[in-house]
Amino acid sequence: MTPSDKPRTGTGQARNEQASLAAGRAAGYCWERNPDGPGRCTRAPHADGEHVDYYNGRQQITDVHGYTWS
Ligand SMILES: [Zn+2]
Repeated sequence: MTPSDKPRTGTGQARNEQASLAAGRAAGYCWERNPDGPGRCTRAPHADGEHVDYYNGRQQITDVHGYTWS
């Protein structure tokens, strides 16, 4: 094992991901990434597996929420 065997980390993209994650959690969101589209879970942190994005994926302006996934 040498230092060069370490996985590559610390790219700008990874740092942005970490910063975004921290910001979402700080704002009180579950913040689980939607695997099928943009956005993240904007429910408060929850123990069940039903994630909801209230801001992306709404078909109509009157829809209460957009993407849901679990
Ligand atoms: Zn969630």
